[in-house]
Amino acid sequence: MSARPYENILLPIDLGHSSSWQWALPSAIDIARMHGGMLHLLTVIPSFGMPVVGSFFPENFEDEARKEAERTLAAFIREKVPDDIAADGYVAVGTIYDEILRAADRIGCDLIVLASHRPEMKDYLLGTNAARVVRHARQSVFVVRG
Ligand code: ADP
Repeated sequence: MSARPYENILLPIDLGHSSSWQWALPSAIDIARMHGGMLHLLTVIPSFGMPVVGSFFPENFEDEARKEAERTLAAFIREKVPDDIAADGYVAVGTIYDEILRAADRIGCDLIVLASHRPEMKDYLLGTNAARVVRHARQSVFVVRG
């Protein structure tokens, strides 16, 4: 019996925390190369949830934040993903773990690669988002420990 290939790999990253990609990115690149797969990088801008909080910010705040994240993610991919690996980037706004799960289904990913948690949250072996993704994803999940 042969293993199923991983052709579409989702790598959710927090652009503000290098620990979310420092070890996960090289692993995702290795797996993509091994399987001839494509990398899909996703960054989620957490939404405020409550309109009362949102109303303190200018109306176009979300659009601006999304544009800025798209620019930063595109630059990240150019700089850090080698040319022989096909990669694209997505920015979502919402609840982090929900958006990761939705993107994985929508893109048709067969593997999610993510870092377990931030090093400063060392009392937890798995951060809240990572734990929810592991628990609810339909796809295989590769958890990279720092
Ligand atoms: P912690 O609470 O220690 O930060 P998390 O569970 O939030 O742990 O983070 C684990 C992983 O979840 C990160 O390495 C990253 O893959 C993903 N993640 C966290 N925040 C975001 C975000 N804003 N956008 C995309 N992915 C994220």
